[in-house]
Amino acid sequence: MKRAFDMERAREWLGRILCALGVHDLEVVEVQIGFGPSGTVEKVQCRRCGYRGTRRGRA
Ligand SMILES: [Zn+2]
Repeated sequence: MKRAFDMERAREWLGRILCALGVHDLEVVEVQIGFGPSGTVEKVQCRRCGYRGTRRGRA
């Protein structure tokens, strides 16, 4: 029981380190379809820390 709990803690700790390094567990929350040369823009959010950002999709 204690071992499983420690695994959970370790995973959370690792996740925080990755986020601190800028390696987020991103998921796409919204896709904005642009017209012209800008193409589509994806709004992304990190499942761990809630970091939000945008990234440009392929036109
Ligand atoms: Zn994050």
